[in-house]
Amino acid sequence: MLLGSAAEPLPRPGCRCRACLGGATGTRTSALRVGDVVLTPDGARRGDDAPLHVVAGDAVQHGRVRIIGLPGGPGGGPASGPGSGPGAPQAALVVASPESGTILWAPAGEPLPDLTLDALSGAGVDIAALALGPDGGALARTLAALRRAGALSDGCDVVAVQIGHGTASGPLSARLEAWGARLAPDDARLGPAREPGEIADARRRPRRTLVLGAASSGKSAVAEALLAAEPDVDYLPTGAAPSAADPEWAARVDAHRRRRPPWWRTLEGAGPAETLATPGSPVLLDSLGTWVSELLGRLGAWDDAPGWREAFEKEADAVVRAWTRTGRRVVAVGEETGWGVVPGTPAGRRFRDALGTVNQRLAAESEQVLLVVAGRIVPLADGPGLPAPEGAR
Ligand SMILES: [Zn+2]
Repeated sequence: MLLGSAAEPLPRPGCRCRACLGGATGTRTSALRVGDVVLTPDGARRGDDAPLHVVAGDAVQHGRVRIIGLPGGPGGGPASGPGSGPGAPQAALVVASPESGTILWAPAGEPLPDLTLDALSGAGVDIAALALGPDGGALARTLAALRRAGALSDGCDVVAVQIGHGTASGPLSARLEAWGARLAPDDARLGPAREPGEIADARRRPRRTLVLGAASSGKSAVAEALLAAEPDVDYLPTGAAPSAADPEWAARVDAHRRRRPPWWRTLEGAGPAETLATPGSPVLLDSLGTWVSELLGRLGAWDDAPGWREAFEKEADAVVRAWTRTGRRVVAVGEETGWGVVPGTPAGRRFRDALGTVNQRLAAESEQVLLVVAGRIVPLADGPGLPAPEGAR
C-alpha cells in the first residue's frame, strides 16, 4: 500500500503554486507499506517504527517480507564509505513477500549505479516506486535503464514517488502515462493484480504521435520527453549534417544531441520511409520541415524544375504509407509554417504548401497529435469530421 507519494505534504498551506492550486499530488510523504514493513526515503522500518538496517548487497528477513539491499547503493561494497550507515538516504531496496511479489523502492532520484542495475537484471519487478525528480526526468531515465536491464515484469506497476512542490499534477499524469507510469493516490494498493484498470498499460499508448509547433516552440523537447523512458530509441535526423562551414548550425545540432540520452542511436543517412518499414525500436523523426526542404531542394523545386511536383508526391506517398503501416512506436516533429504572412517567393510558398500537406496527411493517420506553444502542449482532437460540401462527391 502506498501510504503517500509527495516529497513533502502537499498542498503547502497558503501556497499558490501550480502544484498546490491544481489539486496537489498527495498529502502524505513518500512511504510504502509491505506487510509489516514500511519503506521511507530513509530506508526500511518495522511496523513499530524501529529501523531495519539493510546493508547493500545483503538481505534482512522480517516476518514474511524479505528486504534486499542492492549492491552499489549507499553503504555498498565491502568497505563503508560516505553515505553509509544509519540515516544515509537509501538509494534502492528490493522487497519481496509471497503476497506482494517483488517491489523496487528507489526514492533517491539519482541514477541507479551499474552494479545495482546488473543485480536487477531479470528480477521480474512487479511494482516499481521511483522518484520523480525535476519534471520527471529522473523517473524517465531510471525507467529506461531498468527496461534496458530487463528488470521489470510485463505489466509492472510503475508509480511516481517523491513528488516535489511546484509540479503540476495535470500535465504530470499525461507525461507519466507516456512513459507507462502513473500517479497513485495516498492509500492506493499497488501491483499488477490489484487494480488492472489503473495500471499504466504500454499497449494502450499511441503508436504514432505527430508533434507540431512553430520554430523554437519546444516541440523537439516534447517529442524527446515522450520517448524518454524507452529502453532504446532510433533518432532519425533529417536536417543537414553539421559542417565546419556553418558553425551556428553545428552548435545547434550539437546542443540537441547532448540533450538526448547517450544510448539513443542516430540513424545517419536513412530515409523516413525505409526506417519506418523496418521493424525495430521506437523512432524519433526530427523534423518533417527539414525533410521536406531537403527533398524539394534535391528535386529542383526551388527553380520549378520539370516534374518536381510528381516526384515529391511519390516520395510523400511512400512516407505516409510507411507511417500508416509501421509496427514501430514513432514520434515525428513537424513545423507549423503557415501562420505568418504568405511567403514572398514562389519557393517559400512551395515549401509552406508541401509541408502543410505532409503534416495533414500524417496527422490523419496518427493516434496522437500535439501542438506545442511556448513549451506547453495542446492535444489536437480528432474531430467528428466535416461533411463533404455539396457536389464534392
Ligand atoms: Zn505550492
